[in-house]
Amino acid sequence: LIFSQGNESQGSEIDFSDIGGQDTAKNELLEALDFVKNKKEIQKLGIRPLKGIMLSGPPGTGKTLLAKAAANYIDSVFLAASGSEFVEMYAGVGAKRVRNLFKEARKKAEENNKNNAIIFIDEIEVLAGKRGQNSSHLEYDQTLNQLLVELDGMSNNDEINILVIGATNRMDILDSALLRPGRFDRIVKVDLPDKEGRKEILTIHTRNKPVAADVDLTQLAKETFRFSGAQLENLANEAAIMAMRDKNDEITTTNFKDAIDKVMMGEKLNRKPND
Ligand code: ATP
Repeated sequence: LIFSQGNESQGSEIDFSDIGGQDTAKNELLEALDFVKNKKEIQKLGIRPLKGIMLSGPPGTGKTLLAKAAANYIDSVFLAASGSEFVEMYAGVGAKRVRNLFKEARKKAEENNKNNAIIFIDEIEVLAGKRGQNSSHLEYDQTLNQLLVELDGMSNNDEINILVIGATNRMDILDSALLRPGRFDRIVKVDLPDKEGRKEILTIHTRNKPVAADVDLTQLAKETFRFSGAQLENLANEAAIMAMRDKNDEITTTNFKDAIDKVMMGEKLNRKPND
């Protein structure tokens, strides 16, 4: 099974300062994480532990980065999985995978002498869509039920705290049982970056690149309306490739402009006719 692809060393390298824009999402996430950090106070007051945080927003906006930065912030091991890894033809296999994922998280935390583990589940709607709406609904139901069982089973007395961070672009199809208090009761919206956010993201992804002195990142941020973080990262990379083709030592404004066109064109080619 592939769920440890995002291993803890990768997880711990990402810092909140590596994430451009997303100020609201960062603040909301930090507030929730401080809650996890202050476990003793929470126990004293009898407040139930925070078990799940849902990151909601379009692809490529930094949800995975946020989850990794969270793992770093609360000094936790990091396990990543995708909702599609739990979908199997055979009944019970998905549920077993969910169980194993939580087991693996506890084991990994123990091995690394950590009190916390973060389980990140991307595309969580694939395993946690509304029950009874799929043709093979029985299997989905079992998988989702197992996730609920794991969440409900966690308590303040656990030696190892597990925090599940889900990511989805389809809040509308999530089963409402998942969003009930005591489960994923924090929802953090992660939107496409605004102009300031785009400038920050471009700054992050050009900081190790030789950018010509006259390149104006503020202007480039203006010209990349509706670009996601992933597209901006791609733009910085394409611009560098174009500089190499031109045999430039530095990445010029023209390279950046051509790269904007290329990324936009790529998007058009990838789009289905009805989008
Ligand atoms: P998906 O839903 O497709 O999994 P995601 O929201 O999890 O997307 P990430 O995997 O975090 O997106 O982002 C992909 C890549 O895009 C990152 O590795 C990073 O290079 C870049 N990126 C995305 N958002 C940001 C951001 N806010 N700041 C800096 N880089 C970003």
